Order: sequence, then C-alpha cells, then structure tokens
Amino acid sequence: MEENCVFCKIIKGEIPSKKVYEDEEFLAFYDINPAATIHILVIPKVHIENLQQVQDDTLISKAYRVIQKIAVQEKFAESGYRVIVNCGKDAGQEVMHLHFHILAGEKLGPKIR
Ligand code: 5GP
Ligand code: ZN
Repeated sequence: MEENCVFCKIIKGEIPSKKVYEDEEFLAFYDINPAATIHILVIPKVHIENLQQVQDDTLISKAYRVIQKIAVQEKFAESGYRVIVNCGKDAGQEVMHLHFHILAGEKLGPKIR
C-alpha cells in the first residue's frame, strides 16, 4: 500500500467506489469519469506503479482472467469490449497504480489515437 495513491485508498475503503468485482488479488470498480457507456477499472491489490514495473510472471494473465469474468458478469462478453493500459507519461497515465481500463456497452470509436 502506498500512502498517497488514490487506488490504494480505494482498496482500503478510504475513498468510496462503485465496486464491480473483488477477489484476493484484484478489485474492479466503475471509473469516476467514464469514457464509454461502461467504463470499469481493474487493479491489482498490490501497489505496482505501471505495466513496466510488473515482475510477477502470472499477474497480467490473472488480470485478463478477471476481465473475462467481469465481461460475463456484466453481460458484455458477447457484444465485446476494449482493454486499455496507459503506461507512463506519453500514454497520459494519471494514476500511478497499474490499472486496466475496460470500455464496453456501445460501439466504440477508432482504435488508436
Ligand atoms: P489513467 O489516465 O491513469 O490511465 O486513468 C486513470 C483513471 O482513473 C481515469 O479514467 C480517471 O477517471 C480514474 N479515476 C481517477 N480517480 C478516481 C477515483 O477516485 N475513483 C474512480 N472510480 N476513478 C478514478
Ligand atoms: Zn496504489
């Protein structure tokens, strides 16, 4: 846990969030400023700054399994969805705690830029 990290505060319950999914290792909740009809953030409970800092061999694959489960649970597995990870400043990463954006619930726009 990192003192001044917004997502660590969400994990600790110090900042409220609209939770979608939780297990021992991951938490998922609705983005406060949605970029699509459905915009969910999936985060590991351990504080890792971003994708580039991941050391764990299984963390990323587990995250994608969580995303699959959420897609079924929230009923957009069939209609489809997009997963985005912003890493570092050129990607505009604002919260320095690894997170996977899931965008769904509508026909999404262009894929890149
Ligand atoms: P980034 O630009 O770092 O990839 O994305 C950070 C995301 O976190 C943004 O989409 C932003 O709306 C979301 N966010 C930032 N602070 C909070 C918060 O306190 N609660 C929730 N639910 N989402 C947040
Ligand atoms: Zn954190």
